[in-house]
Amino acid sequence: MEIYLVGGAVRDQLLDYPVYDKDWVVVGSSPDEMISLGYKPVGNDFPVFIHPETGEEYALARTERKSGKGYTGFQYHASPDVTLEEDLSRRDLTINAMAQSSNGHIVDPFDGQKDLEARILRHVSSAFSEDPLRVLRVARFAARYAHLGFSVAPETLALMQQIAATDELAHLTRERIWAETERAIGEQSPLTFFRLLNQADATQTLFPELLPLGKLNEAKQLETHFTPDTTTTVRFAALVYLCFATIDNPAEQLTHFCQGLRCPNGFRDLSLQVLHSTDKLLNWAHTSADERLNVYLKSDLLRRPERLSPLLEACSLLAQTFKNKTLDTQFYVNLQTELKTIQPADIIQAGFKGAAIGEEIKRRQLALCTT
Ligand code: ATP
Repeated sequence: MEIYLVGGAVRDQLLDYPVYDKDWVVVGSSPDEMISLGYKPVGNDFPVFIHPETGEEYALARTERKSGKGYTGFQYHASPDVTLEEDLSRRDLTINAMAQSSNGHIVDPFDGQKDLEARILRHVSSAFSEDPLRVLRVARFAARYAHLGFSVAPETLALMQQIAATDELAHLTRERIWAETERAIGEQSPLTFFRLLNQADATQTLFPELLPLGKLNEAKQLETHFTPDTTTTVRFAALVYLCFATIDNPAEQLTHFCQGLRCPNGFRDLSLQVLHSTDKLLNWAHTSADERLNVYLKSDLLRRPERLSPLLEACSLLAQTFKNKTLDTQFYVNLQTELKTIQPADIIQAGFKGAAIGEEIKRRQLALCTT
């Protein structure tokens, strides 16, 4: 048997990009042999094994044949006679279809290295059209490598458009779409992901509730302020703010959008908080004490203080985008601390009773928000 490093690790190593995951392909072996060598089998669809010490994935070389709709509609054939080249030919992009032998030799039957140098995302073969998930994958890789100058080959974009014109994309589960979208939002240029899907005419099917990203220039500007530490939740909330802030019933539309996307509730909640607070935080001097207090109460920031930091982070990104300045986040943290010191017990002790307790709390809170 022969073992090769494949896919993303070979690509990123050649690109001088950080390698996080290593995938291996095993040629000329069988499940029995792998198990006898101590590898642990995983997955029911095709033979993949986990290395007992490194925990890395080792897959037996396989070919595939389309047998149904969607990205799961495949029949796999793995046997010791499947060659490395056959296995590489089922992969999506030429830059993902390279392997490296143990002595460092690169096996590159589809000129992936040439495309890496030319900064091109190009499909391996016309079988690309058999898996609709590849439309999202290409857009995600484009979002990751846009800053390095990568673009999608015209003929690959044409195939993406062909896939979008069929009903194949509709067979992807919402969870799968969200998984790719979430990863894309974490990449260097999330906007590239959405723009490319738009160019492929795929947005209508994939994100039916997404309103046109009207403020493209702001979105482009926004993502230049993202850092590797900016969480996906914060990125998402700031990006969707640009889509929803200026429309009618934005909170309702945003909630509907998040439902359609099946994103976790944390994404929806922060987005709603950002939608509600950004205008006020960015124009604090012109915001009334009532509205200032409402920023803290509506997002429940006094009982859930941990919510403030991501909210300020997202609003600060928007302040950089719209006003070319950051927010004085410490000011809002201090105000939160002061507001939390107002305790009903102290007010009762001061002699207030019944409805007067609530009124006094409000009066003290507003007094803090006035300065
Ligand atoms: P990442 O850095 O995002 O993990 P990756 O290339 O390692 O990138 P994986 O999803 O781990 O991505 O897939 C490993 C390899 O398997 C890919 O490089 C590609 O060769 C192949 N692959 C994965 N999914 C598909 C697919 N849907 N169609 C064709 N080939 C695929």
